[in-house]
Amino acid sequence: MTKIPFISFMLVLWCVLVVILWYGSAFAEPVKCANGNVTVYAAKKCDIAHACLAIDKTYAFLRTAGLNKPVSIDLHIVSKLMGHADPEVCLGHYNTRTRKTHILSYGACKCRFIKNSFWGLTFNRELHNSFIIHEVAHAIAEAHFELETQGLAAGEYIAYTTQIALMSDRLREDLLTKISNGGFENHQEITSTFHDLSPSTFAVKAYRHFRRKENGSMFYQKLIHGEVILNGEE
Ligand SMILES: [Zn+2]
Repeated sequence: MTKIPFISFMLVLWCVLVVILWYGSAFAEPVKCANGNVTVYAAKKCDIAHACLAIDKTYAFLRTAGLNKPVSIDLHIVSKLMGHADPEVCLGHYNTRTRKTHILSYGACKCRFIKNSFWGLTFNRELHNSFIIHEVAHAIAEAHFELETQGLAAGEYIAYTTQIALMSDRLREDLLTKISNGGFENHQEITSTFHDLSPSTFAVKAYRHFRRKENGSMFYQKLIHGEVILNGEE
């Protein structure tokens, strides 16, 4: 073999090795969380460990609220969200058709968070976990809705209230101080249009509505059984 073809051969070999190593790390073995119903796909093991803890908290919280059907979920922690209507502002999403949940990795989420200054909060691991909780709560809620007409606002209500309820006291107080709007007064105010116009305000207003003693898990039950149909989906 002459010198130039040999160098070319070595270059190609090196590129192939880089691609193999990159794919090897990007598509690490999926891990089943201790919960058993959730499989996490991620490049980094530390992302998987954090995700499993967040997922277990979500299951426990919603089970206590009466959402206790076993729900199988595939959670993909990715560096880019594909096929979402507005990937620039979105940190994760749950696909009701494929039942797959995608969430940006910690690193990708941090860049997006700083760029869009979501909620005016400092990005950290706890906040990232809270978005995993949000998406997993979507998946669990969706599996429980008895009416197909119970659409976006009901799912977002359960996802955001679970997310905020499971924050540490310090993080929750920080959020509630930054977004000081009062809670929704009644279910007619909880609409998909409101959510689309201001998801952050929707989140906090939903949480303040949820924590009133007449609402809480009893309101979840009304949504699940279709006793309350949220405005915007009727
Ligand atoms: Zn959501």
